[in-house]
Amino acid sequence: MSDSRERPNLNATPAEHLVEQATEESDGDPTPAFSLELTQDQKDIRDWVHGFAADVVRPAAAEWDEREETPWPVIQEAAKIGLYGYEGLAQFWFDRSGLTLPIVNEELFWGDAGIGMSIMGTSLAVAAIFGQGTPEQMAEWIRQCFGTADEPKVAAFCSSEPDAGSDVSAIRTNARYDQARDEWVINGQKAWATNGGIADVHVVIASVDRELGSRGHAAFIIPPGTDGCQQGAKARKHGLRASHTADVHLDDCRVPGSCLLGGKEKLDERLARIREGEHGQSQAAMQTFEASRPTVGSQAIGIARAAYEYALDYAKQRRQFGRAIVENQAIAFTLADMKTEIDAARLLVWRAAWMGRNQIPFTNAEGSMSKVKAGEVAVWVTERAIQILGGNGYTREFPVERMHRDAKIYDIFEGTAEIQRLVISRALSGVQIK
Ligand SMILES: Cc1cc2nc3c(=O)[nH]c(=O)nc-3n(C[C@H](O)[C@H](O)[C@H](O)COP(=O)(O)OP(=O)(O)OC[C@H]3O[C@@H](n4cnc5c(N)ncnc54)[C@H](O)[C@@H]3O)c2cc1C
Repeated sequence: MSDSRERPNLNATPAEHLVEQATEESDGDPTPAFSLELTQDQKDIRDWVHGFAADVVRPAAAEWDEREETPWPVIQEAAKIGLYGYEGLAQFWFDRSGLTLPIVNEELFWGDAGIGMSIMGTSLAVAAIFGQGTPEQMAEWIRQCFGTADEPKVAAFCSSEPDAGSDVSAIRTNARYDQARDEWVINGQKAWATNGGIADVHVVIASVDRELGSRGHAAFIIPPGTDGCQQGAKARKHGLRASHTADVHLDDCRVPGSCLLGGKEKLDERLARIREGEHGQSQAAMQTFEASRPTVGSQAIGIARAAYEYALDYAKQRRQFGRAIVENQAIAFTLADMKTEIDAARLLVWRAAWMGRNQIPFTNAEGSMSKVKAGEVAVWVTERAIQILGGNGYTREFPVERMHRDAKIYDIFEGTAEIQRLVISRALSGVQIK
């Protein structure tokens, strides 16, 4: 019997075919026009994710926030209905309009951001494998990142280090090639990895040539159970507490030669070109980062919308001075500004998502614009929601307090607000702003 909550369009196209289609598109399919008109499929998926967020995620949110643990039972439910897994992610990701993935993220994070991140955190590692792996590596590893519907697993993407956050070029984790055994030996310490240490598959960024800075970096798969890969300290966080964040230690961690994403031949060619003075690679990396930013922005919008809706309902119910507080312009205008800001941020996110999906160049860093705006709107809207709820808003009995704590991370991870402004200002001025 099929679950009534099963993903719409479930059996449409297997994930591998979607990947093939996406790879062949550059051979001529015209770019779809940007449109705010959702297709029936997109509306069905939006309503389906919203139902899961309302029925399963939101009721569990406060408990997992307090426990500060990965909500495995919720991930399992998401896997059973096809929301967590390769097929689902591929269906959301490869839609040509670019809008399905932001829509899914907004609804899920409307339910709860900590649980949302524990469901979506794996996609960071998957994006790296998809972006840099060979077809064989994609076939071998992407499914393993998710596990199965009965036994879901998570994956981690480990780039940040204690001394390399915004400054990615400072990464010290290094990978040395042991030719005799065709193995890579990786040593270093990663910081702040979402799912770090509890993941089956870790994707680790390491330096193969420190002199080349970020252009000497490569990405490696650390297969499940590899000796020398261990969780370090788990972060005790301000928000997003249902999502596990931890250091990862890599001590003489040996992985097969085939775990270098993209393969050794391609790496050697790239390094040779860089040493001869070519500079193409950092541009390609920038395109990849820009393309992932609207996805993160849509998560922030989900949090902001949840807080705004809660505050609006509250303002209509709560009475002071013999009238509902919404009848005061101070409250009503704040709500008007909250809604306006959320809608403005969503428009930026959707534009960048459409551009990223269709490889339209981000000449003004439109991906960064969408992320910085959505993050700051989420922080501001959730803070205003607390104000509208007064004393109640400041307590853990009401969800806007948690939403505000969750929202703050969107100013920090995946590039801080300052780094986004650096990227935007450099793109529009052509000047290497510091
Ligand atoms: C909950 C959580 C989950 C995370 N998940 C992951 C993950 O899965 N994988 C991963 O690799 N990393 C992850 N991170 C790390 C995250 O990406 C970094 O925290 C972020 O990039 C900022 O780096 P930092 O913390 O070292 O801050 P720093 O780089 O030390 O920055 C500190 C302050 O200085 C500012 N600053 C720095 N340089 C400049 C400059 N040139 N101009 C102006 N201002 C500047 C910053 O904007 C910031 O305000 C996560 C972090 C958190 C908190």
